[in-house]
Amino acid sequence: MEDKKLIVIDCDGVLYPKKELSTKDILEAVQKAFFKKGISWKNVNNVYDEFKMSASQKGLFNFLGVAAREFRLNVVELLNQIAEETDYSHITPNPKLLSQIQELQKKYEVCIYTNNTKYHLEKVYQQLFGCSVAEAGIPAFHIGTIQNKKGYCSKQSNEALWFLSKFFAVKPSNMIFFDDTISVLDSVRQKGASVLFINQDFNLSDAMDYIRQIYPTNRVICRHQRTPFDKVCKQDLFTQELY
Ligand SMILES: [Mg+2]
Repeated sequence: MEDKKLIVIDCDGVLYPKKELSTKDILEAVQKAFFKKGISWKNVNNVYDEFKMSASQKGLFNFLGVAAREFRLNVVELLNQIAEETDYSHITPNPKLLSQIQELQKKYEVCIYTNNTKYHLEKVYQQLFGCSVAEAGIPAFHIGTIQNKKGYCSKQSNEALWFLSKFFAVKPSNMIFFDDTISVLDSVRQKGASVLFINQDFNLSDAMDYIRQIYPTNRVICRHQRTPFDKVCKQDLFTQELY
């Protein structure tokens, strides 16, 4: 039980190389989604200037929540529209990678966690693996999974680490984050987790090979003892839809 490890795999820049779908591409999709809703980019930027000044919230999706309220848009529709406007066709299909991750699940707890939306994650899976998130059979979390009073909590937040530790019954010191964003890695490392930095020279397959070498005997024996989902919630922290 103490040795059980949880591997937290990022989506963008880890499941596929960043050059196949960049942050710039995603921001262009954001721009197009507002345009389709009849909102000018100038007005969006004005809201963004105000958002930047407020210290209480951070991140693109918290901003989009604020902007949706400001422009009286349905935030779910807006986030969905952004995924619709994003061109996923440059992501190279890689169903073998899914088999490799599923293989890893035999020895470790594994989840995918993105600071992007569930709509985005679905589109990435369809293009990359040719199946839905549910069909892939790997627990997957997104920016909407954890919220507090201030808004969406990122995967590097205390709330998300607390959630992961309860959901998988794994301490942060037994979590290993595979991520291409340094600030995410720095943040979870400060909270006791281990990290592997993924880039073009050390991709996800390399990282999975590496993990197998350093933890060769780690077998998960308590999969059925996961904390039930409804016991994970607490008063000031609620979880949204979970795959
Ligand atoms: Mg990333």
